Amino acid sequence: LMGQMMSQPLLISSIIQHADRYFGANEIVSRRVEGDLHRYTYSECHSRARRLANALASLGVRMGERVATLAWNGYRHMEAYYAVSGAGAVLHTINPRLHPDLIAYIANHAEDQYLLFDTCFLPLVEVVAPLSKTIKGYIALCGREHMPQDSKLPNLLCYEELLAASRDDFEWPLFDENSASSLCYTSGTTGNPKGALYSHRSTVLHSLASVMPDTMNISGRDAVLPIVPMFHVNAWGLPYAVPLTGAKMVFPGPGLDGKSLYELFEQEQVTISAGVPTVWLGLLNHMEQHQLRFSSFKRTIIGGSACPPAMMKSLRHRYGVEVVHAWGMTEMSPLGTTGSLQTKHLSLPLEQQELLLQKQGHAIYGVDMKIVDDLGKELPWDGVTYGNLLVKGPWIVAGYFKNEGGDVLQDGWFPTGDVATIDGDGYMQITDRSKDVIKSGGEWISSIDLENIVMAHPAVQMAACIGIFHPKWDERPLLVVVRKPGMEVSGAELLRFFEGKIAKWWTPDDVAFVDALPIGATGKLLKNKLREQFKAYTLP
Ligand code: ADP
Repeated sequence: LMGQMMSQPLLISSIIQHADRYFGANEIVSRRVEGDLHRYTYSECHSRARRLANALASLGVRMGERVATLAWNGYRHMEAYYAVSGAGAVLHTINPRLHPDLIAYIANHAEDQYLLFDTCFLPLVEVVAPLSKTIKGYIALCGREHMPQDSKLPNLLCYEELLAASRDDFEWPLFDENSASSLCYTSGTTGNPKGALYSHRSTVLHSLASVMPDTMNISGRDAVLPIVPMFHVNAWGLPYAVPLTGAKMVFPGPGLDGKSLYELFEQEQVTISAGVPTVWLGLLNHMEQHQLRFSSFKRTIIGGSACPPAMMKSLRHRYGVEVVHAWGMTEMSPLGTTGSLQTKHLSLPLEQQELLLQKQGHAIYGVDMKIVDDLGKELPWDGVTYGNLLVKGPWIVAGYFKNEGGDVLQDGWFPTGDVATIDGDGYMQITDRSKDVIKSGGEWISSIDLENIVMAHPAVQMAACIGIFHPKWDERPLLVVVRKPGMEVSGAELLRFFEGKIAKWWTPDDVAFVDALPIGATGKLLKNKLREQFKAYTLP
């Protein structure tokens, strides 16, 4: 017996239509590449997205074809999110921090037809253009007055002129909700980047799940500032999740330094934000130096790499900001787990509650997890046994674009490449990426645990732990540390800091001080680069 409910496809266009119809006057505020603050409403966003959809149609973009962007978080980028996917084409967001050769590789692999770009990326686009085999035209995201002069780009178009010449009567087509909507490449730290090809259905389901109270907890009364870029897994889905609720959207554009972010938080009375740990370091340093406080900010989602407990404590206790630790990956749209407490945890001592919230969190409805050994045998949920983390769910890839890497699933589960524990209540904690674990005498040492401990030392700005070849133990941990500006601390003192906090044999064999650690295109530590850098290092 079939149910008798309307069968309405879950399409991305329905989100902006809803935002226009029910929250039409609510604001989207953007710091622009031009330098000023731009503000308009969801209704205007919808109207301009429809103009863009008409403009792209007249340029010949057809359903299923890829349209690329190289842009910061801003309202024009958001218009492209809705226009391209809403019309049935596929939005390919490219990370401008990647090497130009890699950008050309993924643009060719994706067979991008047009590239929309912020004018600050013009020099990059000019390097990529001659390498591109498919791009027919380049659309500068600006008005005529800011158009690049003397550019040699073939078929360079002006975004605002295209919109002005188009009507806003585009009718969003209805089609299969499983159609492709957008494309994101993994950063490819090993081998070539591979594309995660999202669908309308996966995106809408992910958006619904991400606004729930124990996920990102977004309501129509919030003002949300995504620091995580729209070229990093669709800013963790916020350009879809926020309009769904009618919350105010605040885009930081290129201003990701502590000062610019703080000003925007205050001026726009931001309540929720999201980003990787490294961006919070910059903001917190600025606030510490100038003795600043937040007046409206209440919650942030931190993920992408492990959030050091010291950072969580500082945000919570010093600045009154709740930290939701989240874990996910490009292949998961990206949300998999978030940290939240259940009623039974509220009677635990505060310290134990905090320990629970420091884990990567609890599976969100829709995501199922398990840990397995190297033979694929499922391991117990005891919070101690660690194994390879596998996931499945409707917003997790079943394979990569153009079948790169072949069959990736193991019995229908996606192998994350992470090593984790899961406790009896289903709270997951990442021990390491499998390629980053340190193997000493056949036993694993968690580099994340060691980093989390030392990051709490007052003189430590950033730390990374890597395995170094050892003739007897195969590998032993080396701790690489960046000191806070003007702070002194010796290696011996840092090693003493581990006493009583871990098993003795986990203590790093040595400490190396550096001025900076290698950071990748998504703001994460590049451990492979660091291992390369310390290849010839001999432990004492
Ligand atoms: P990339 O693989 O391009 O770096 P992703 O953003 O897809 O980009 O990275 C996903 C990986 O990031 C996860 O597999 C995991 O190793 C790591 N990660 C994400 N969130 C966390 C977290 N909260 N704690 C620890 N590691 C995390």
